[in-house]
Amino acid sequence: MAEAVSHFEIQRQQMLQWQLRGRGIRDERVLAAMAQTPRERFIPAEFRHLAYEDRPVPIGLGQTISQPYIVALMLQELRIEPHHRVLDVGSGSGYQAAILAKLASEVFGIERFPELARRSLAVLKELGRGNVSIYTGDGTLGLSEQAPFDRIICGAAGPDVPKAWVEQLAEGGRIVTPTGPPEVQMLIAVDKVGGTTTKSDICPVTFVPLIGQQGWQR
Ligand code: SAH
Repeated sequence: MAEAVSHFEIQRQQMLQWQLRGRGIRDERVLAAMAQTPRERFIPAEFRHLAYEDRPVPIGLGQTISQPYIVALMLQELRIEPHHRVLDVGSGSGYQAAILAKLASEVFGIERFPELARRSLAVLKELGRGNVSIYTGDGTLGLSEQAPFDRIICGAAGPDVPKAWVEQLAEGGRIVTPTGPPEVQMLIAVDKVGGTTTKSDICPVTFVPLIGQQGWQR
């Protein structure tokens, strides 16, 4: 008898084909990790039917999970190697952290809202992604107790790249984050080589605000 393939699995395959491969995502490790991560599990029941839509989806508390293409693009730009330790600032629903868990050796998520942190950890545990820990706190200050990090990724946009992240980034490390005011944001990469950092623009984007001591005040 043929195995039952869920509705969501079919949608996930279509997302990979059309939204990711079709738009130029080529990193096979990122594609495989996204193929193995059930996005619907990270989305509250009332919005779950939108899990594989080509857009951001609400996760509660006024926050959103990024559009699949943007998640893939950021992860591809992060150039993760299997031995890396990664800081995921604004871990929100935990979806991106779950994908990172497949790509890196250790993942540290930090989220401002305790309720999101708690929910995300429960799903990550159910999925057996044991190399992820989730902290509650102000991620604009990084996570000094676990630094340095080989990679830092953020799903919210601050006015500029927090100094704490650059300080907590290992030599040869890379940060991928949006920056800029709510209306005009740019996805950027920051590389640390020989103690010097260089910034490069990736593409214009729209994200929720990064709120904290080294982000927006509110
Ligand atoms: N990558 C997440 C995206 C969540 S949206 C996912 O896959 O679901 C961005 C998140 O950043 C929100 O949950 C928001 O609460 C959080 N955030 C904003 N400012 C923050 C800060 N200073 N520290 C930690 N989290 C923050």
